Amino acid sequence: MPTEQLINELQSYGVRLVDPKAGHESRRGGAGPSDHKAMTIDGMTVMVPVHTAPAFESPYSVEKPDERGRSRVNRDGVPLGEVSFPVRPRFYDLATADGVPYWKIAVLHGRDVLATTVLQTCIRYRSRTKTCQFCAIGQSLAAGRTIARKTPAQLAEVAKAAVALDGITHMVMTTGTPPEHDRGAAVLTESAAAVKAAVALPIQGQCEPPDDDAWFSRMKAAGLDALGMHLEAVTPEVRARIMPGKAQVSLVRYLEAFAAAVPVFGRGQVSTYILAGLGDTKEAILEVSEKLIALGVYPFVVPFVPISGTPLESHPPPLPAFMHEILQPLALMLRAAGLRAIDIEAGCGKCGACSALSTYERGAAT
Ligand code: SF4
Repeated sequence: MPTEQLINELQSYGVRLVDPKAGHESRRGGAGPSDHKAMTIDGMTVMVPVHTAPAFESPYSVEKPDERGRSRVNRDGVPLGEVSFPVRPRFYDLATADGVPYWKIAVLHGRDVLATTVLQTCIRYRSRTKTCQFCAIGQSLAAGRTIARKTPAQLAEVAKAAVALDGITHMVMTTGTPPEHDRGAAVLTESAAAVKAAVALPIQGQCEPPDDDAWFSRMKAAGLDALGMHLEAVTPEVRARIMPGKAQVSLVRYLEAFAAAVPVFGRGQVSTYILAGLGDTKEAILEVSEKLIALGVYPFVVPFVPISGTPLESHPPPLPAFMHEILQPLALMLRAAGLRAIDIEAGCGKCGACSALSTYERGAAT
């Protein structure tokens, strides 16, 4: 089976782990996609759902790893290939002077990405009617797996250690949306400045479009190398249904913000996350992606993962064929425009672990 097809299958259906302790701690709860475990397949490290309802019924299983950390992946008991698990990062064993474990401040994503949610609270998360239906930002906080606010000094300390001990090559800073008009740009700015003062590490910031485009220059000057403003869904009806609070910032405003941000960060350094499987048609996703690519924005399309405990926990993930029908033409569009995941300085598009898109890109390039 081609690698991109296997990744689509694993990300849609999830896997059953014969040994639940295989690999290091998985992401549970938190902002954005979650309930995954990182696995490396054919040189690509991808996030595969292991704690979702579909994963418990998945035809795919991963056997207990051998002493070198390698496991066989099976479909209905028939071996298909080999996967391995990234080792537990060493920075997870450290704590700040006041006793906060580093893993509550930032975590390893994929193979070499340090990820943090600077503010673990969000104005969109307060009421059930406004919350983004796919998001679990409050769950990891309620479970004590993180802290509500990571200070710039804490982030700098953890980033420095993660680079020195674990070879981290870039960092993702996302944030819940605060009640201010900057929609998180200010906390990302101060956090990036502190990290950059401590260690030379490319950083992507992720927030909603701020009210004032002047924030883009401030963020860039502070040390953010790339910016993500995440549409999540692309048609107004789907946005209003799935994320009634966040949809108050219109698609028109997102497109304006992208057009203002690209000249500041550079072509291909501004990206957006699009969750396929929430109701948008493939035609709608490809149509918006075409507009974004024309603006110089990298549309990172990922399969929706139904996170346990969220209102969408029973919503089915997209079928592998649906992802294939989006990612294959999208990779060709990106190639024609000269936008490549590997040219992104930092962030989700560069990491690529939540989607098979970069694997399709590699195929489109040959
Ligand atoms: S693509 Fe983004 S959210 Fe997914 S593992 Fe990589 S950094 Fe984390």
